[in-house]
Formats: sequence, C-alpha cells, structure tokens
Amino acid sequence: MTELRGLPVSGGSRVGYALLFEEVPDVRAPAGGVSPDDVPGELARLDAAIEEALAQLEGLQASMEGQAGLVSGIFEAHAAMLNDAAPRLRAAVQEGNAAEHAVAVVLHTIRERLEALSNPVFKQRAQDIVDIERRLLRALGSLSHETPDLTAAPLGPVVVVASTLTPSEVAAFEGREIAAMVLEYGGPTSHSVLIAKSLGIPCVVGVMGVTRAVHPGDRIWVDGSEGLVVIAPDADTLERARGLGERYDRLEAALLRESGLPAETLDGYRASLLANVEFRPDVEAGVARGAEGVGLYRTEFLVDERGRLPTEEEQVATFRWTLEHLRGGALTIRTYDFGSDKPEVPDRRFEPNAALGERSLRWCFAHPEPFRAQLRALLRVAAEGDVRIMLPMVGGLEELRQARRALAEASAELAREGVAHRPDPPLGVMVEIPAAAMIADLLAREADFLSIGTNDLIQYGLAVDRLNPAVAHWFRPSHPALLRMIRTILDAAAVHRTPVTMCGEMGGQSIYTVLLFGMGVRAFSLTPGYLPRARRLLRSLTAREARSLAAECLRQTTADDVEALLKARVQPVGRG
Ligand code: PEP
Ligand code: MG
Repeated sequence: MTELRGLPVSGGSRVGYALLFEEVPDVRAPAGGVSPDDVPGELARLDAAIEEALAQLEGLQASMEGQAGLVSGIFEAHAAMLNDAAPRLRAAVQEGNAAEHAVAVVLHTIRERLEALSNPVFKQRAQDIVDIERRLLRALGSLSHETPDLTAAPLGPVVVVASTLTPSEVAAFEGREIAAMVLEYGGPTSHSVLIAKSLGIPCVVGVMGVTRAVHPGDRIWVDGSEGLVVIAPDADTLERARGLGERYDRLEAALLRESGLPAETLDGYRASLLANVEFRPDVEAGVARGAEGVGLYRTEFLVDERGRLPTEEEQVATFRWTLEHLRGGALTIRTYDFGSDKPEVPDRRFEPNAALGERSLRWCFAHPEPFRAQLRALLRVAAEGDVRIMLPMVGGLEELRQARRALAEASAELAREGVAHRPDPPLGVMVEIPAAAMIADLLAREADFLSIGTNDLIQYGLAVDRLNPAVAHWFRPSHPALLRMIRTILDAAAVHRTPVTMCGEMGGQSIYTVLLFGMGVRAFSLTPGYLPRARRLLRSLTAREARSLAAECLRQTTADDVEALLKARVQPVGRG
C-alpha cells in the first residue's frame, strides 16, 4: 500500500482500477526511407489518418453540444489546429519521410515551441498538440496499445492516472465510468481540471511520482476532497474508502435536499449564498444548490479554444440565458480577466511574468474594441434584470474611473443608436491586489460594491504562485497578513455602507466560512459544489460564537495558530 498526497481540486471519494496514460513515445520512424515511387501511397495513408482524426473530432464536438465556452470549442479547435498543420505534414511526407515521422517532427516542433514559453497557458496549448499527435498516430495504427483510447473502449470504474491530460482527453470522459483522476501536474484552474470539476469527477493534482508508482490495473483509492491517493489499499483501507465514499454520496444527497433553506444562523443572522460560474452547467449547478444569484461570472472563459472572443451579440445571449435561469436573482458579471492563470487571447505578446503583466483590466484598456463590445453587451442585458458589473485586478482609483468613463461612452453610443440599455448599472471592484486592500476606504467610497478575491489576494499578498503545487503549502488563508487585509476591507465597506461579497475559494472551506462570517462577511460567492456545505454550516452556529472565534483568530500571531484554533473549534460538514 502506498500513500501519496496532492492538491484536492474536485471532491469525492472513489475506488477504481488504474488506467495509466503514457506519454507519446518519441520519434517513431527515422527520417527518409520512403522512395519517390512510394510517396503517393504514403501521402494517401497520411490523408486517410487526417480524415479519420477530423471525423472523430467532429463526432466528439457534436457530443459536447450545449456546453458553453472553452469546453464547447475544444474539438473544433483541435480540428482547426490539425487543418493548420496538414500542409506541413504533407510537405514532410513529400520529402520522402514516413507519415509517422512527419507527425513526430512537425507536431513535436510546434509543441516544443509552445512548451519553451514560460506562460502556463501556452504550455496548456502544447497539451492540445499532444492530443492531436496521439489521435493521428492511433489513426495510423502506430500508437502503442498500452495507451488507452477512451473514445473507443467502454470502461469499468477506473482511476485515470497521468502526468498531464489534455482537455480533449478529459472531455472524452463524459458519460463513461471514470471513478477519479490523478495528475502529476496541472493547477486547480487548468482547463483539464475545470472540465473534470464540471463533469463531477473527483480529482487530485500535483501528485508527484504517481505515474511511476502505479501499475496499470492497480487498485487505487482517490479522496478528491482531501487530496489523498492510496495505491493498492489493504482490506481495512478499502473498507474505509468505501465507507467514506458512501457517506460522501449520502451527505451530498441530503445537502442537496436542503437547498431551499436560508443560510441563517441559529440566532437569526442571514448570509446570502451566490455562485461562482464559468460555464452554463455551473449556472445550473448553482441554481440547483440554492444559489440566490451569481456573485462572479468569469467572462474570460467565454473565449473559445482558438482564442476567439465572443461577439457583443453572443455575450448578450449568454448573459440573457443566465438571467433567465436565475429567475430574478442578481447576476454579477466580471469584465475580462485574461492572462496568467486565466485563458489567453491568441495575439498576446509573450511576457516573462504574466501574473504581473498586461493582464485583466490592463489588457482591456489596451484593447478598447473588445472591451467596448463587452461593456455594450453588459449595459444591454442590465436593462433586462439585476445585472452588476465587476472589475477585476483593480489597483487604484484610476482604473475604476477609467472603466466608468468607458462605460459612459458605451452607454452614449448605445443611446445614439437607439439601443435599449441601462446606462448606470452598479459598478463594483474586486479587491484582490494588496494595493486595493490598502485603499479599500477610497474604493468603498467610489465603487458601488466590493468583492474580496482571496485567490489572488493570497497569491499577491503572500507572494505564492496559485498554480504551483510545489508551493501550495505556502498558500495560507489563515495568514495574519491576509486576515488583517480582509479586516481592513470589511471595515472600510462598513464605514461607507458599501456592500461587500467574498468570492475567493477560501469562503467555501468550512473553517474559513465560519471565520469570515464572524468577521462580518454576509455574502459568499462560491463554487456551486461548496454551497450546500456552507449553508448547513451557517445554520448550525450562532453569529455570536462566530464573532468571538473570529476575534480570537485576529489576536493570533501565526498562520499555524489561526489554523489550529479554527480546526479545534469548527466541526466541518462532512470533512470540509
Ligand atoms: C480571486 O482572485 O479570488 C477570484 C475570485 O478570482 P479568480 O479566481 O477568477 O482570479
Ligand atoms: Mg482573481
């Protein structure tokens, strides 16, 4: 029995048999060797493989119909990439190389170029190239049989183990009995992980060495809520795993039944629970779990896999659909937050440190056209329901004012065109850069609302890369510096009577839900899966207890002490 640990990114406890995804073998056929007479035959083989791959992609694309944003475009994007590479593949065969060699050389070159860039998003694109390479090699009959083809074989409950998985490989899991997913690499917000979450597959990432430790067919227990992976569990562990799995499923079902209840403490204080969403299924999941509205719509995920931005009309349609599903609930839409850990637009120039680069609102200001189209769409849907606009990565008042001016210009333009819109919807800012926390009083005076984004407030405040599993243990919501920043923000909001929401992942972790509520947070926007637990937890305590616990936490001097105190005093729902 071997126990490994990683980052818990998608909850649930499952046991299954290991299905090991192997890396694409390196160059399979030597250069040259195809005589001029054989070139037409080899070209025909290549063309047939390309055609077969394209047909598979078309079928897969059709099966993803109805999914929004990135998920929807994956296979279409792969088809486009394959079409782009096809002339180079043919040229390589015309030079006298076998089709396998052409695939290896041409696609490896593209992939290596992408991998050489330090930007994680381009690295993710490199994974798409691997995906295409595997598909072509399979079509050529040249990929080792050990590499499982999920699109061809029906499977029992298996645990997929890989160093990385391409988004297309994960998307192909839909409708199959995949018990869980374990990856060596990949952060909690990589495309593949987002898709796993959307499909409800328990997942742990950053499990270094797992592909060497596992043998195909090994029995594995994955606890996606705890980040635990146990290879070849003994009988007792297996029993525990099954028990946990059943408890987890029973609890999920019971929690779901409580979705209609208010998140109200025993002494009558209420919190508002909202959903963080990226794709349409998240909106549905949020509504099913009793979200009163959407507190954070991450619009950068509306870009498709090829990096094409949605048009004004497409955005209006998406937000209108969301408003209709929320049935009167508020819809807070964040303007584009491209860059760094988020999706990229294709023409972005390379930046050595993307997290500190021309990302987010800075990119919007540098690209007035797409920003204008987005603002127009937002103003238009704001006339149809409770729509609020939220600005990401605000560092100073200048950004808020510049965005307000852009909004006024978009409104004037719509008015000139006679297009129905609301000229002045609420405009709020995310407080996720330490600079913004330091001037929270100034922001609270000018913004219509604040939203605390601890995912980035921790990243920038504690200088810890949110995507890097190697430093994940330094990413600590319990750090006194973070608690002081949150205190400052909440105080400023209270003085100016500016509404404030917590939309960072921290808000969904039981111990921090209680701490934040005790500090005065009354609106939580959470990943839909976290909503039922937060509701039950808040219903089980008094605001008085939470306040006194929060005050005690703020008197602690280290992250360890805060965490220990919270763990001693908060009984998580399920296991957190
Ligand atoms: C945050 O930074 O806390 C946040 C909610 O936004 P995102 O995770 O999209 O950066
Ligand atoms: Mg953020």
